[in-house]
This record gives sequence, C-alpha cells and structure tokens, in this order.
Amino acid sequence: MKKFNKNNYTWESVDVLKYKSDNSPFKDVTRQILFDGSFDIDCQWRYFEVNKGGYTTLESHEHTHLVMIYRGYGQGLVGDKVYDVSVGDIIVIPSRAMHQFRANKGSVLGFLCLVDQKRDKVKLPTSEKLIAMRKNSEIDKFLEDYESPNITYNVHVETKSKNGRSIEIETCDAINEFPITFGLTKRLGGVSKGNFESLNMGLHVGDEIQDVIKNREIVADILDMPFEKMVFAEQVHKDNVYKITKADMGKGCVSYNEAIAECDAMHTNEVGIPLAICVADCLPVLIYDPIKHAMATVHAGWRGVYNGIVQKTVLAMEAEYNSDRKNLLIYIGEGIGAESFEVSADLKEKFLIRFGQDVVLNNFEKNSFNIDLSLTLVQSLVRFGILTKNIYVSDLDTVNDKSSFSYRRDKGKTGRMALVAMLEKRD
Ligand code: MN
Repeated sequence: MKKFNKNNYTWESVDVLKYKSDNSPFKDVTRQILFDGSFDIDCQWRYFEVNKGGYTTLESHEHTHLVMIYRGYGQGLVGDKVYDVSVGDIIVIPSRAMHQFRANKGSVLGFLCLVDQKRDKVKLPTSEKLIAMRKNSEIDKFLEDYESPNITYNVHVETKSKNGRSIEIETCDAINEFPITFGLTKRLGGVSKGNFESLNMGLHVGDEIQDVIKNREIVADILDMPFEKMVFAEQVHKDNVYKITKADMGKGCVSYNEAIAECDAMHTNEVGIPLAICVADCLPVLIYDPIKHAMATVHAGWRGVYNGIVQKTVLAMEAEYNSDRKNLLIYIGEGIGAESFEVSADLKEKFLIRFGQDVVLNNFEKNSFNIDLSLTLVQSLVRFGILTKNIYVSDLDTVNDKSSFSYRRDKGKTGRMALVAMLEKRD
C-alpha cells in the first residue's frame, strides 16, 4: 500500500525524480515510479507531471506506451495528430509514433504511463523531420512554447461630478479612447440609506424603489446617458446572451419586473442605448469591438465564468456583428478577489479540473481553498483567442474595499454596483 497525497500528487515512499537525465529536450517535468515490475507483471508504471508551460521530450521508439491523464489538462501529439487531453483520457502510443505531451493550456498536466521493463532507447527527431512536421500548422502551433498570460491591472477609480453631485466609477483609459462611455459605479454619491448607503443600483435587493431610481438618474446624469433608455437585466447566473435593440430601451430601468428576463449578458451595436449589469462580488465584464463598434456587458459570477458566459457572448458578437475576437477589448471590473473567495472543496475540484492548478489557492493549515476568479476568466479568455494585451483587469477586491458593495462581506444585505456602458456616435 502506497498512500496517495491528493494535495500534491505524490505517493508515500515514492520519490519525485527528474524526468530524464540524458540531455534530451524537455521542460518542467517530474517522474515518479509507482511500480517497477514484480511477480508476473514485467512493466514499469510511472506518473509524470508536466508543469504549466512545460513539455515532455518529443521522441519515438520501438516500444509502446499506455497513458492515462491523471491531473489537469493540456495537449498530446501522437504521430501526426494533436489531441486535447484531460483527466481520464487514455492514449495509446504505438511503436515508432512520434509523441509528446505539453501543458500548454494553462494547467499542470499529469499522466500515468505504462511501459515494458525491457525497452529500446528513445530516438529524437532529426531537424529535417522536425521541419517536415512543422509544415502541419496544427503541429507547428502545438510545438510553440506557451507563455502563461501576464495580467496587467490597469484600470482606475475616478471621481466624476456634475450639478453638485459626485460619484466614483472604475473605468479604463485604453477603452475610453474610443467612442464609448462606460464605468462601474461604487458606493459613493447616492441617496439610499442603511445597508444600501448610498449609490445602490439594484431594484431587487429590498431598497426603497424611489431611492434606486434616483441613484440611477444621478449616474445617468453624471455620465451623460439618457436615463429613460437604460436597459437592466434580470440576472440569474445562467448563460443566456441577448441582443439589445431600440425596442428594448428602458426595460428594467424603473421596474425590475420589466428587466430583460433570465439574462446575464447583453450586446448591441446601436448607438445611444445604455446597458447596465448589477454586481456585488460577481465580475462585471465589458466587451468592446473598436472595429465593428459593438459592445456587450456581462455578469460573470463563478457560475458564469465556469460555464463560459463571456466566451459565449464573444461568439454571439462574432455571429451578429462579424466581430473578430482578436480585436476585442475586454474590461474585467472589480469583483471578489482571490484572497476573499474561499470556496468548498467540491467547487475547488470543479475549477481545478476545468481550469487547472494555478487558479486555485490551497491553504494547507486551514485546509481551505480559494479561487482566483478574474485570473480564471483571463486565462480562459486567452485560451479562447482573446489577446492578453487587450484585457484590462481590476485589482480591487469588493470584500476588502469599503467603497464597494459586497454580498459576501455584508452577508447578503447590501446594495449593487452597476457596470453601465453606451456606444457613442462615431465620426
Ligand atoms: Mn516515450
């Protein structure tokens, strides 16, 4: 019996070894020998783990491998085919097939590998062979080193004033260069009282309706948006994406019952329609296409991030406005931060399997787990084809930020901030 430690994928009395020491090219791989042939089983059973961004040796040999993915996900090359692989997948590597595993999808990749105890030496590809292989564009892309995205936290909070009133908004200069007005409201500058003090933008949280309407009027006035045209959604943590047109103007603005039903993402290419998404810990996301002059506002809590609501909205914009994801600018506003977002072991496991090790933080002393929700979203957007340089992320944490509403900090009795955005006329 060798007890498995699921926190670090090691086994009792099994050493973590260097992958190879024959100078063959590989990056960030460890090896553990789980079984080394005894009784009538003449095989070696190993566990290899490829760190994020690493890869095993690109090689071939006469002997065969039987591989099962045991942790995370990535890609595998077998012969002239590249496969996306994740936990549970079985890959048979036949004799003489060129093969390699890469943790090139933002996750660690661990796999069990069975080989005969007696086996021939590994062959590396010649440079001619490599050039020939790279003529296949899929293989060429696979062989490129994957760099995990460097997030730049380059949004800021500013005070805006008009007619003797001031509010704070979080916004981003790189997007404000374009004919679009947008901002994430904070707590300051409204008329609500008590738990909702003061700029509560949510009609559905038990605040005085007239106070919320007044708050929305204040925001619209200061941001130069037509209050009566603001569109709000009945957000339900699902992944429905709706196109908004002039016919929808004003829905949900003064009555929650009239908000766009069961909707967590709205997009439009019509000028002059303010779209609003309410948040208190969930991530507010703005997508802007500066080429097609179209935009979307998205409510992305953990369910939305897990189910890919932002990617789904991008697909809708590509279908509707012929947007190209390589052009899209994305703002991910203030939400719950990694330090504050403690989750259950079950939820941690779900995120670990879908998004990989680096979005999960383990606190071994407390035996607790946290998720970095905005990092999860950034990484999955980059894998989806959004350019890292086009993503703008808030480094504020609603739970620690007294200037923000936080559902978790205020135990559910709190107001909502709103991401409001409107396309302006282009010259
Ligand atoms: Mn091999």
